Amino acid sequence: MPSKSRLKTLAPDGLGPTVTVGEILVEIMATSRGSGFLEPIELTGPYPSGAPAIFIDQCARLGGRAGIIACVGDDDFGRINVERLRRDGADVSAIAVSPDYPTGTAFVRYRGDGSRDFVYNIGKSAAALVELTPEARVLLARSGHLHVMGTALSIPAIWQVLDHAIDAVKARGGSISLDPNLRKELLGHGQTRERFARLLDIADLILPSGEELHTASGNDNEADALASLFARGAGEVVVKRGALGASLFGADGSRVESPGFLVEEIDPTGAGDCFGGAYIACRRLGMPAVTALDYANAAGARNVTRQGPMEGAGTRAELDLFIANTPRRRP
Ligand code: ATP
Ligand code: MG
Repeated sequence: MPSKSRLKTLAPDGLGPTVTVGEILVEIMATSRGSGFLEPIELTGPYPSGAPAIFIDQCARLGGRAGIIACVGDDDFGRINVERLRRDGADVSAIAVSPDYPTGTAFVRYRGDGSRDFVYNIGKSAAALVELTPEARVLLARSGHLHVMGTALSIPAIWQVLDHAIDAVKARGGSISLDPNLRKELLGHGQTRERFARLLDIADLILPSGEELHTASGNDNEADALASLFARGAGEVVVKRGALGASLFGADGSRVESPGFLVEEIDPTGAGDCFGGAYIACRRLGMPAVTALDYANAAGARNVTRQGPMEGAGTRAELDLFIANTPRRRP
C-alpha cells in the first residue's frame, strides 16, 4: 500500500496529452418529459456523447493537449463524434472504426421528477470494442496523464487497455486521475471491486460527486471518506456538488471552496465530465488549484445551460466571459 501522496501537482501539459479511454456514443433525447419510450414521441439528436468523449472534448477546448482511445462504427453517428473532437482540438488518431458494429447510442427521456429513462446500445456496439491497437500504443507512448472514467470500467475489454496505459503513463513520469462515476451495483461484477481499489491506490487526483465519495471510500462521513482516500495516496480530491459548486481537498489538509454559478439548468448531462476535463487541463497548464477549480466549476455550470451532453463545453475565452457575466451563490 502506498504510504504518502505522490505528486504535489499533475504532470505538466508539456509531457504529453491527457489521454482517456472508453465509450463514444450519440445521445438522442426526447423533447418532452414523461416516462419511457412506449409510444412515438419527438426526439432530438444525434448529439456527440459518452462520458470519456465529453471529458476529452472539454479538456481540448480549454487548450489542454488531449487524446482518446475509443471505437466507433463506420457510420454518421461515429463521424459526428470524430469530427467534433477533431474540430475541438483532440487527438483522434486512436479512435478505431469498426467495419461491423454500429456506433453506440443512448436514448434518453427525462421524467417529471428529473430522473432519467435510458435505452442504451453500448455493450453490443462499436463502443465495447475498445482495444490496445497500434495507434493506442503510439498515443500512450507520448502521453503525460491518464484519466480513468468509472463508466468505462463496465466494458471488459477496457481493462487490458488500462493496464497498459497505467504502466505507459507512469513510466513517463505522468500522473493519473479517476472519476469514480461507477454505479455501485457494478462494483459487485467479476473483479471490478479489486480493479477499482487498485485505481484508488494509484490515482493522484480523484473527482467524485458527493455520493460517489462515499461509495469509493466505503465511508459515510465526508471527513473520514477523504481521510481514507488520502491514506491510499491521493494528492487531491475534488468533490463535485452539483448546483452548489465544488470543493477541493489537498492531502496537506488544504481546502478550497468554489460556490456554484447561478444558471438555468437545461440539461444536466455531462456537467461532471466537463468539470473534470477543465480541471485537469487547467492544472496541467500550470494554473493554481484555486483557479483551476473556478474554471472547472464554470465549465460544469456552462454545460448545463445547453441542450446536449457536450454542447456547452467552453473554450478559455468562453469560460472567462461566462465567469465575468454569471452571478455566484453566496459561499
Ligand atoms: P454527471 O451527471 O455529469 O456525472 P456529476 O454527478 O459527476 O455529473 P455534478 O456535481 O452534478 O457532477 O456536476 C459537476 C459540476 O458541474 C458541479 O460541481 C458544478 O460545478 C457544475 N454544475 C452541475 N450542475 C450545476 C447547476 N445546476 N448549476 C451550476 N453548476 C452546476
Ligand atoms: Mg459524474
